[in-house]
Amino acid sequence: MINLNLFKSKKSYFHTLSFTWKNTLFSLLLFVTPFILLLIFLNFSLARIIKHQSFNQLATIVEENTKIINLALNDREMDFRSYRQVEITSLKELDQLRPTLEQIIRSKPWYDLFFISNLDGLIVFSTEPSLFNKSVASRPYFLASRQGQFYNSGIFYSDLLNRPTLVLSQPLHNRLGEIIGVLAVCLNLQYFYNLLFDLRIGETSELFLVNESGLLLSPTKLGGRPLLDYGFDKKEGNPHLGEKGVVIHIDYRGQKVLCAYQRIPRTNMFLVSEVDLKEAILPVRRANRIIVFIFIIFFFILAGISIFHSQRTTSLIHKLTDNLRLALDEAEKKSQELDALNIELARKVKETQSLAEELRLSKEYILQLIDSLSPGVIGLDIQGRITHVNRSFREIFNLPEISIGESFFYSIPWFNDKELELAFENTILTGKPQQIARKTLTNYPEEFFRFSLFPIFNGQNQIQGVSLLVENITEKEKLQQKLAEYEKLSALSQLALGAAHEINNPLQGISSYLEMLAERTEDEKEKEEINLVLENVTRISETIRGLLNFARPSPPQFTKINLNLLIEETLSFLSHQPIFRKVKITKTLAPSLPLITADLNQIRQVLTNIFINAAQAMPDGGELKVVTSKIKFRDYVQIEIADTGCGIPPENLNKIFDPFFTTKKSQGTGLGLSISLSYIRNHGGEISVQSTVGQGTTFSIILPIRQAGRGTFQEGEIIS
Ligand code: ADP
Repeated sequence: MINLNLFKSKKSYFHTLSFTWKNTLFSLLLFVTPFILLLIFLNFSLARIIKHQSFNQLATIVEENTKIINLALNDREMDFRSYRQVEITSLKELDQLRPTLEQIIRSKPWYDLFFISNLDGLIVFSTEPSLFNKSVASRPYFLASRQGQFYNSGIFYSDLLNRPTLVLSQPLHNRLGEIIGVLAVCLNLQYFYNLLFDLRIGETSELFLVNESGLLLSPTKLGGRPLLDYGFDKKEGNPHLGEKGVVIHIDYRGQKVLCAYQRIPRTNMFLVSEVDLKEAILPVRRANRIIVFIFIIFFFILAGISIFHSQRTTSLIHKLTDNLRLALDEAEKKSQELDALNIELARKVKETQSLAEELRLSKEYILQLIDSLSPGVIGLDIQGRITHVNRSFREIFNLPEISIGESFFYSIPWFNDKELELAFENTILTGKPQQIARKTLTNYPEEFFRFSLFPIFNGQNQIQGVSLLVENITEKEKLQQKLAEYEKLSALSQLALGAAHEINNPLQGISSYLEMLAERTEDEKEKEEINLVLENVTRISETIRGLLNFARPSPPQFTKINLNLLIEETLSFLSHQPIFRKVKITKTLAPSLPLITADLNQIRQVLTNIFINAAQAMPDGGELKVVTSKIKFRDYVQIEIADTGCGIPPENLNKIFDPFFTTKKSQGTGLGLSISLSYIRNHGGEISVQSTVGQGTTFSIILPIRQAGRGTFQEGEIIS
């Protein structure tokens, strides 16, 4: 069954999930993530580009301004160099120069002051009166120019002036070209600084000078003091190294800056241009802000659209869920119905299965029934092909293998028979049973068969085959012949009985007459002859009596019988018969054998049958032993009759008591032993047999001494 619970609790399911918002968030996430990634990427790239651009810009600024400063310095130097030759011979005539130099100072504001030292380093002239008589003998510029060199000191703090300054110095030549002193000029740094200020760029950007150790040589816009502060954070070290470069470093204010620097040629000064990193990447920030702004607008639009769609989708899903739930309810109902149907179906299947099983059993039963039928049965379809065959059929024709599906008339040669085929065709055509009452087959010329053909109909009453029954009627035929013979024998026995009566009566007269004659005669020889005749007459009489006793059909009459006497009498009668001539008869009869209650004639007939069979089994002579005894601890007597005849083959042992079973062909009826068995059983006794072929046979009869409720004899009467 389908589990429908998940869909049933719609409320809790969707509400806990807050489906709309989840859906919206999901859509936003889906669309915004690439956007954010793009933003980060753009930001990063932009920052890189702008940084690069700022670097380039700074470097260009520094380079350009370095050129300007250099040019300005060159210009000053050139200008200054033009004052090296004076029209005086010694410094004592210096006063002549004063108006010129003062004029220069006034007209060239970039010069702060001039001073001239004598060759001993003592300042002998200065446009700054405070410098008079001060010594510059140890100053490098003095020392260099004393030697005839032009010297640029770079910016340094002058303890003579008590302020930073830049000194240009050169030797002062008199009109004869001799060095008479050193001429030096201090540049107006303010003028220089103003130049730098003019070159400034940006809000936080600035331009300043540092020396090789990074010490500020010019004031900075943001408060860096020349010759007091350094242009970098001391922890990080001086970044202004080499001829030029661009770096990011922390400056003297502790701010991260982009910095470009370049050495001003022929000096120890670097022109430095810096801009705060923050300011440098300001365009990035602006761009970021714009992008974020656009992003937020876009985000809200997207969120709005997404919410709108999600709500629509959610309401659609809700509707869908409702419908689905209804459909599922319906499905569940259907599923329950289906379950019920399934159960019903399973029951039906079970019933069908048990029916099929019953059918199978019935089929098996029918097949076994057919198999167990004594007539041979073979099923044929309308083309005459074999569909089924039973065991008897195979046994009758000794055909262990018969192939189903093959043609009956062509696969077994002796059924390739016109008469049979005709009967088969007639059965199919007429739909009525056909019979061939008696027929021999090519392979069985001495046997007779009866063929019965029955049509087999299907449900629509159409013929679908023929069932063919075969009986081997040879035995029946023989039996009938036997019966005829038996009838004949029975009639003969009746005749013999009449004849015996006819003979017996005159014989009794003859016997009485002969006895009388023998008594009367005196002649001994005559008496002897009469007695011999009498003996023969007695033999004839006994023979006839025996015949009468054997053949007379009489109702059973139980009397007390002396079995030993009966055996003696019967053997005495039979011993005169020709078949007993070569037989030696031995009797071991128990002297104290009790009398038994039995029908005399029946027991006699039993004994006679068995004695005759024994004699017949010994045609060339042998021994017939008869032993009687009382069975110990039981009220039974036993008679054993053994011969040394041909014996009975084991396969015949269980057939000899069957009526009409005989191995004696026309000389036997096959009834003797079957009648004997029925007589003995009628007395409550039993007959058994043991036999070895070639050695002999022993029949053993046991009989009860008494017959409860039977016996009509008078007290004391003993028969036989
Ligand atoms: P029948 O004597 O007419 O054949 P029975 O019923 O008396 O009929 O005997 C049946 C068969 O039993 C005989 O044909 C014979 O084959 C066999 N039989 C009976 N007694 C003996 C015997 N003593 N020795 C050998 N075969 C015997």
